[in-house]
Amino acid sequence: MDIDFSSQIELSASLLKRSKYAVAFTGAGISTASGIPDFRSPGKGLWEENDPFEVASLTAFIDHPEKFFNWIKPLFLQARSAKPNPAHIYLARLENKGIIKSIITQNIDGLHQESGAKRVIELHGSARTATCPNCHSTYDIDHLFELFNRDSNLPTCSKCGHIIKPDVVLFEEMLPEKAWHSAHQEMQRADLILVIGSSLEVYPASTLPNIAIRKGAKLIINTLSKTPMDLYADVLLPMDVTKSIPEIFHMIDS
Ligand SMILES: [Zn+2]
Repeated sequence: MDIDFSSQIELSASLLKRSKYAVAFTGAGISTASGIPDFRSPGKGLWEENDPFEVASLTAFIDHPEKFFNWIKPLFLQARSAKPNPAHIYLARLENKGIIKSIITQNIDGLHQESGAKRVIELHGSARTATCPNCHSTYDIDHLFELFNRDSNLPTCSKCGHIIKPDVVLFEEMLPEKAWHSAHQEMQRADLILVIGSSLEVYPASTLPNIAIRKGAKLIINTLSKTPMDLYADVLLPMDVTKSIPEIFHMIDS
């Protein structure tokens, strides 16, 4: 039987309405309904068959590019064909309305942008683009897709021939500095954080909401699993995000 979360939805809507600078923080849980597996959570889905450090690390990319691309190729094809679900779409509407000021995401699928969100900060990079580590030429996902479809060949830079690297943050890599800095700034400004589909466990991204909370920001957590921040939440909404976000939107919009 479905639990009735209507009072939590109502409270979330009213907190969002009253907020001056609300920021969304999203994780894998917002994209699972779009068929995207969890990219960086050890012990889950993708990692059950592979040791992440063997396939998804910078060392793997450099030392065993075939192995690396065999592992990452299905992920890219999925990210390319996946479509935004109602949680992405209504979150983008909240952003377009000015209720949400920015979306900080741990996801690499680009689905926030595809659903029309303007201000998206990607902490773990993007599966939609790639860069040549040698000459810094950039490639979009359609080009990567073409290269992936040429059986067995590794995707190489058309300018210098070096193997190109997807713009996702691999193990042993730092988070992109610009994104990390912007995310920090957003957290300093925020008076409300709406966590959607993140268990707030993947370090260091998970430490971000705490910056805002320490400064007195309100916290809404819309994640099915428990999180280490539950204790500090003003609203806990362990509910399907494809239902909760549209409901919150309609309540604010009515
Ligand atoms: Zn190049």
